Amino acid sequence: MNQVFYRQYRPQTFAEVVNQEPIKITLQNAVRDGSVAHAYLFCGPRGVGKTSMARILAKAVNCDKPKKGEPCDGCNACEAIRGGKFLDLIEIDAASHTGVDNIREVIEHVKFSPSQGKFKVIVIDEVHMLSKGAFNALLKTLEEPPSHALFVLATTELTKVPATIVSRTQRFDFKRLSQADIAEKLIGVARDNKLQVDDAVMKLVARAAEGSLRDALSMLDQLSSFGKADLTLEQAEELLGQTSLRLLQEFFDQVFSGDAGSAIRFLKKIVSAGRDITQFTNGFLEYLDTVLGYASSGPQAPSMLVNEDRLLLEKHGRVPRERLVSLIDLVLAAAQRIRSSPLPELPLELAVVQFVEEEQTSDSQAGFAGKADSKIFKSHQTKKSDVEPAVGSILSSGDSPPNRFYEETHSNWNKFLEHVKSYNHSLISSLRLAKVVACDSSKLTLSFPYRFHQETVEQRKNKIVIEKALEEIFARPLRLESRLASDLADEPAASDKPKRKGKLVEEALKVFGVGSSNSPLPPR
Ligand SMILES: [Zn+2]
Repeated sequence: MNQVFYRQYRPQTFAEVVNQEPIKITLQNAVRDGSVAHAYLFCGPRGVGKTSMARILAKAVNCDKPKKGEPCDGCNACEAIRGGKFLDLIEIDAASHTGVDNIREVIEHVKFSPSQGKFKVIVIDEVHMLSKGAFNALLKTLEEPPSHALFVLATTELTKVPATIVSRTQRFDFKRLSQADIAEKLIGVARDNKLQVDDAVMKLVARAAEGSLRDALSMLDQLSSFGKADLTLEQAEELLGQTSLRLLQEFFDQVFSGDAGSAIRFLKKIVSAGRDITQFTNGFLEYLDTVLGYASSGPQAPSMLVNEDRLLLEKHGRVPRERLVSLIDLVLAAAQRIRSSPLPELPLELAVVQFVEEEQTSDSQAGFAGKADSKIFKSHQTKKSDVEPAVGSILSSGDSPPNRFYEETHSNWNKFLEHVKSYNHSLISSLRLAKVVACDSSKLTLSFPYRFHQETVEQRKNKIVIEKALEEIFARPLRLESRLASDLADEPAASDKPKRKGKLVEEALKVFGVGSSNSPLPPR
């Protein structure tokens, strides 16, 4: 990986460290007061400045002219550390030196007084990778460290560090950097180096870096080596294997607009522009996760995003949580099906159709219309009368006289749905669309408007769950049979609701480019 900017912009003093305020203040004060511990444990994700902080600490304790705990960055010790030539700073990467011999060597070395500075500083990166023997050897030294020794252990996986080691250190948890922090740093670096990089590209890099400034700077290296000419957002997306947030947020709006056709056309456009649908789907899941996080913690959510993106996120965070969860379920399932689909975009398109369907039949949106931005989320304005439970409409259709099993099914249907939900949350979206066609002492027949839902219910593992739930709710074994609504010639043509749905599917099929007599699903 290209590391020019990373090396060039590595912080050299506490003041230069980006966004780890409590840690740098505590360490600086400890140096100033002469109360530095003998062992520190730096935990946190990669690329957030753990080893940089360790080097700055090494400078600070060895500096000839520190100012209030801050290294001067100009004396012999500071310069030697910056140049990697300081004899009393030992850095080991535990990932490649896991053995007990490596640690013994270090421990032997620590016994001797510093040759150049005041402290011998030992930095062990990825310390969780040490072998058991190596940990034991290290533990002994940490129990009685020489007074001139300062250990800094760094790890990305705290849970893999033995508790006996953790308890002998002072621990600091490094924060993942926010996208805004990273973007700000990147813009500064680009300006210094006279790089012409579009703001949208900067935001893309900041997001792709997932909180790691090191990764962000490496990506900027990569982009800058592409040439001084203006890099388009599309080129950057391709280069970094990332989808821009703008596109993901636009798609989110499409999906929640209640117009499946336009959302699918949006996807078709993306695919024909040569974008990778797997990448797009993963990016969308990531965004949904961000929205869920925001929706869950509200205004206290960490401000990871830059301003304009955050405004949209706030808007998206107002969709009802269960709708969001349902969409995540569907997109997650779609992501898993992409590889086996002959048309890679098909699973995501189906997920969108199913989601919009649910949106229009679900009885859960009544409380939402008032809360959300109704101009944007039009589909939520469905009237309460449109969303009666499916079983209710069967019973009132008066087609066949309700027997006692019907009554029983009707009165327990919601309880049954809740029960299935406790086994498998995503099955609910299919069952909600079901209608009871027949019911007797041993068999329940349901009809489904779409083959997709019928097939979901018919999948062996799903059917087992449903039949188990039926037995538990109705206190007798019930076999489940499913039918496709269009196959039931004698289906009573109900109100305007099924017609509306039929139109939507027709429209979706048109977009899929198949006639309505064919199944839009790939062959199994
Ligand atoms: Zn100095």
